[in-house]
Amino acid sequence: MREPSASSGPALQGDLLGAEARVAVLLPLPLREAYDYRVPDGMALVPGDVVEVPLGPRRVIGVVWGPGAGTVESGRLKAVVRRFDVPPMTEVGRRFIEWVAAYTMTLPGSVLRMAMSVPSALEPPKPTLAYLRKADAEPPPGFKMTDPRKRVLALLDDTLAGGPPRTPGELAEEAGCGVTVVRGLAEAGLLEPVLLEPTTLGRPPDWARPGPSLSANQEAAAEDLRARVGTGGYSTVLLDGVTGSGKTEVYYEAIATALKQGKQALVLLPEIALSAQWLDRFAKRFGAPPAEWHSELTGAQRRDTWRAIAKGEVPVVVGARSALFLPYPDLGVIVVDEEHDSAYKQEEGAIYHARDMAVARAHLGGLPIVLVSATPSLETKVNADSHRYARIELPSRHGGAVLPDIDLIDLRRDRPPARHWLAPSVRKALTETLAGGEQAMLFLNRRGYAPLTLCRACGHRMQCPNCTAWLVEHRLARKLQCHHCGLQQPLPPSCPSCGEEGTMAACGPGVERIAEEVAELYPDARAAIMASDTLFGPRAIQEMVRKIGDHELDIVIGTQVMAKGHHFPMLTLVGVVDADLGLNGGDLRAAERTYQLLHQVAGRAGRGERPGRVMLQTFMPEHPVMQALAAGDRDGFYQLEAEMRQEAGMPPFGRLAALIVSGEDPTLVDRVAMALGRAAPRGETVHVLGPAPAPLALLRGRHRRRLLLKAPRATQVQPLIADWLSRVEIPPSIRVQIDVDPYSFL
Ligand code: ADP
Ligand code: ZN
Repeated sequence: MREPSASSGPALQGDLLGAEARVAVLLPLPLREAYDYRVPDGMALVPGDVVEVPLGPRRVIGVVWGPGAGTVESGRLKAVVRRFDVPPMTEVGRRFIEWVAAYTMTLPGSVLRMAMSVPSALEPPKPTLAYLRKADAEPPPGFKMTDPRKRVLALLDDTLAGGPPRTPGELAEEAGCGVTVVRGLAEAGLLEPVLLEPTTLGRPPDWARPGPSLSANQEAAAEDLRARVGTGGYSTVLLDGVTGSGKTEVYYEAIATALKQGKQALVLLPEIALSAQWLDRFAKRFGAPPAEWHSELTGAQRRDTWRAIAKGEVPVVVGARSALFLPYPDLGVIVVDEEHDSAYKQEEGAIYHARDMAVARAHLGGLPIVLVSATPSLETKVNADSHRYARIELPSRHGGAVLPDIDLIDLRRDRPPARHWLAPSVRKALTETLAGGEQAMLFLNRRGYAPLTLCRACGHRMQCPNCTAWLVEHRLARKLQCHHCGLQQPLPPSCPSCGEEGTMAACGPGVERIAEEVAELYPDARAAIMASDTLFGPRAIQEMVRKIGDHELDIVIGTQVMAKGHHFPMLTLVGVVDADLGLNGGDLRAAERTYQLLHQVAGRAGRGERPGRVMLQTFMPEHPVMQALAAGDRDGFYQLEAEMRQEAGMPPFGRLAALIVSGEDPTLVDRVAMALGRAAPRGETVHVLGPAPAPLALLRGRHRRRLLLKAPRATQVQPLIADWLSRVEIPPSIRVQIDVDPYSFL
């Protein structure tokens, strides 16, 4: 990949050299390099400019990456068609795209595509008509100055002193009259029409609004962050504090400092669509909501938001991982909340970890980044322990709320009745909680009714034809569903294998089945399920969160949708139905992730004045994860986990990279995977494991094999992999995905 010019430099003009000025334009397509284009006479371009260029019979949007590099011979050189009227992509923005491409081994054009995801934002939107008061205009003869007309004119008086123009709709609403009144005034020549770029964005957040008065600990933490943001320059800080310690209040101070300096702040949340409470809270603190960026936005919202960010009109963006690629003119701070959350890993297309890329973005942009968690990833923890990252600690809950007691419920002794899932001790606690007028939450990280349906006569299991996965029964939707490819089919009335009728049986619980048990035990309790497939979209989640907060529900049965940072003062009991669930997958981070998830779930209990209680149902009470949770010994758990990883040379002490070979023809997939196995880099410290069938050996109809490269931490794996792949011919029907620092081993 060619380096871009070091600075924006002088404009690259069509008539600069008399004959031919060229620019290299990177296109948001899976291409390895930027292509040269001629700059037509009279057009001036700077690196970062967004342009339209011809590509074969098509016209595509691209970004000027630097001066031409001779990639196209003069005779075939085509001219840039036009330049869009948006601010050029910044030098840092371009460097970031190159860095992500190089690190994740994705083509630069494919990364650019993430940054140019809203082409409609490049065109100026259709302007809307608004009015100012016309100075010294007299009404025409016979024009009656009615009260409504007077009110509209009075409203617009401030525009003579520089006040903002207003649309007919706004004027009519404010003056309490019809739009025709406004139109009448305009026709009479009393108003000055102006065309405005419309926007759905409202008032900016106000950094000067005072926050809550902080405790001494919080204030010290806030002061550290304010100083970092105030001074600028790169640094990574881990903000490490128990749930409810005020981490959010503290990092709001970092945001306020960035805004005070006229810079932007970016907050990444793992699942922004689930974060209604966060948005409300931000709006209360700063008097206006931030701009949101996530997959639930409408096309118009995306367009307006992207454009406004590029023009420097958006001070605060809160978003999912893709918000990293927005065109910020001058970021002042990045916050990654719940930095340990695996939702930050993008597993499709360009495979990247948004937390790690955010650190790189901060480094390139020379700005501080704050990683926030009550249960940091081992990666971040080790970086903080070794002082590569700074660490700020908030050790106690705000306002004296105590962390809940965590009890282990040994399912081998405290057994639920047959085909039921709640242990007698948990039932007893539920009864007490309800009797005390408090709320309970039952957590099970599994959607649907039952994870497996089998025939009691012949043992046949209902499996997805496209994936190595069982079909999950969703009783509410009356369907069997594959959670990997989305396949749906009705429940068969008889066994598809032996033909017996009435023999198909549900095995194991999902949240729907727990809800059934709750209804049987507490028919009068107000209960609801909270899972991604029972709540459609952010609004439904928001409504559910409100209902719980307002105590309109007694028992909530939920998946991890519910584990996120919600704050429910009346919730005092959390029961985890299957605490062992995450440990069974057996991947590298199974223990760490289980610890983090259960810790987070436990943190929902006792956030108000009443103390909370957490009951973990487990078959392995002696497991280190369960022991650490029960003892509240987070750092002991991390230490043990770190020792085990270090001994095995696993991340964060060693490096991994995965190759996933997939295709529709299993023989061909095997052949390519074997060839890659034979060509694998070999050395004293670098090892390649596999090829082996992936646990999801069949996914969406594609057969999959995995190879895993393992190397010491100091190794740069990208050149090794590039060299490795260059030695094997990959047929076009076979896909080889590269996953640097894999988090999923499926
Ligand atoms: P965390 O992000 O660490 O989980 P939060 O910032 O959400 O903690 O704080 C937990 C609760 O305590 C929130 O309701 C928050 O508004 C409140 N809180 C935290 N610090 C203060 C403070 N200094 N003054 C008033 N309320 C606070
Ligand atoms: Zn499937």
